[in-house]
Amino acid sequence: MSSVLARSALRAAARSATPRTVANSTRNFHAARAVANASQTSIFQFSEDELMFKDTVAKFAADVVAPRVREMDEKEDMDPAVIQGMFDNGLMGVETPEEYGGAGASFTSAILVVEELARVDPSVSVCNDVHNTLVSTCVRSWGSKELKDKYMPILNSERVGSFCLSEPVSGSDAFALKTRATKNADGDYVLNGSKMWITNAKEAGIYLVFANVAPEQGYKGITCFVVEKEFPGFSIAKKEKKLGIRASSTCVLNFDDVVVPKENILGELGKGYKIAIECLNEGRIGIAAQMTGLAMGAFERATSYAFNDRKQFGQYIGDFQGMQFQMAQAAVEIEAARLLLYNASRMKENGLPFVKEAAMAKLKASQVAELVASRAVEWMGGVGFTREENLEKFYRDAKIGAIYEGTTNIQLQTIAKFLQKEAQGK
Ligand SMILES: Cc1cc2nc3c(=O)[nH]c(=O)nc-3n(C[C@H](O)[C@H](O)[C@H](O)COP(=O)(O)OP(=O)(O)OC[C@H]3O[C@@H](n4cnc5c(N)ncnc54)[C@H](O)[C@@H]3O)c2cc1C
Repeated sequence: MSSVLARSALRAAARSATPRTVANSTRNFHAARAVANASQTSIFQFSEDELMFKDTVAKFAADVVAPRVREMDEKEDMDPAVIQGMFDNGLMGVETPEEYGGAGASFTSAILVVEELARVDPSVSVCNDVHNTLVSTCVRSWGSKELKDKYMPILNSERVGSFCLSEPVSGSDAFALKTRATKNADGDYVLNGSKMWITNAKEAGIYLVFANVAPEQGYKGITCFVVEKEFPGFSIAKKEKKLGIRASSTCVLNFDDVVVPKENILGELGKGYKIAIECLNEGRIGIAAQMTGLAMGAFERATSYAFNDRKQFGQYIGDFQGMQFQMAQAAVEIEAARLLLYNASRMKENGLPFVKEAAMAKLKASQVAELVASRAVEWMGGVGFTREENLEKFYRDAKIGAIYEGTTNIQLQTIAKFLQKEAQGK
């Protein structure tokens, strides 16, 4: 609507630009053109649908997540009511097409959901992120019609998803994985091996498992299988105890002769490496959103305390220039992280090459999250160091941003590869 109005303003300006001075008419025209282009002037502009998602999540996070954050962290367990709430509010199928019962919304909507959840609890945020931007995206993008018909509605309404790539022997070098898939007499595949560090593993019902069907072919044997929790031979061996995002489950999984029907191969045999790379490139934008949201959450709480609550030397601590300059600097860092995040998100959404931008967004957001969460603890003094305000939790939660979905070094490596190609004109 606004662009229609802007275009007619532009036409009106052009029409009225006949008499008087050329300078005036030029000014009018440029002013009207600025209005016409207003929809392209800020990367912070969102569609009505995206803003609706943002509002829904903010309300859900305040009403349902916030009261449970401390207890979930202490218990190192996700409250089932939170997961059910995400399903009930349509947050587990943000991009899922409407024919499967999803919202059919934009990638940026999914990113805003992750960011908004992280403002309140980065654990809940990563649960949502892995489910939406990795698992649902993989099934939607690579699944056969039969697989999509079978799993998309379930992922959208009742079953959490897990993405199982890492193993004890393979982290940054993900394709060195050792889990084997062997064809049996029926043409189905038998999985044997272990996965490590698997997010959502405890709550999930659907697991995307990467296994090698032909190790002699190296990464070209890697294949992605859809595994259900009930498949015999599948088990959770251990739940990790962690520094941060403690309510998010991170588990070791065992596969002992797990028979997976051949129909449950996601994409093509031997194309698992491509699925993993493409999904993780996109998933990194999700982690950037998690880290950006975390920084925003910590910042908002601590600045509110400094400007409105805490007085020392007869004035609010936020009145001191020493505090104000630190807060202003942090605000600039958050803004920079958000710009990189939304830029990567829009590029991906519009089909532009986005791998370098996604790596930059993830790298910067994880650095900003660590910096801001650390500062926020300091700004709240002793209160920040206690468990009362969850500031120390943001600080602990921030560290994971530099590790999962590609460590900081791996992001730098990705960015550097692009720089090299650009410099060499390739
Ligand atoms: C809480 C949590 C949740 C996770 N969730 C999932 C999940 O859902 N699914 C999944 O598949 N995986 C998951 N992971 C695994 C995660 O992606 C890996 O931990 C990560 O990729 C790093 O691998 P690694 O831990 O083996 O570290 P390593 O690869 O051993 O790296 C150790 C150090 O060496 C550096 N390094 C390694 N290679 C290079 C290099 N070439 N150049 C420079 N430096 C290098 C790294 O940057 C790092 O600092 C999760 C991990 C954690 C901790």
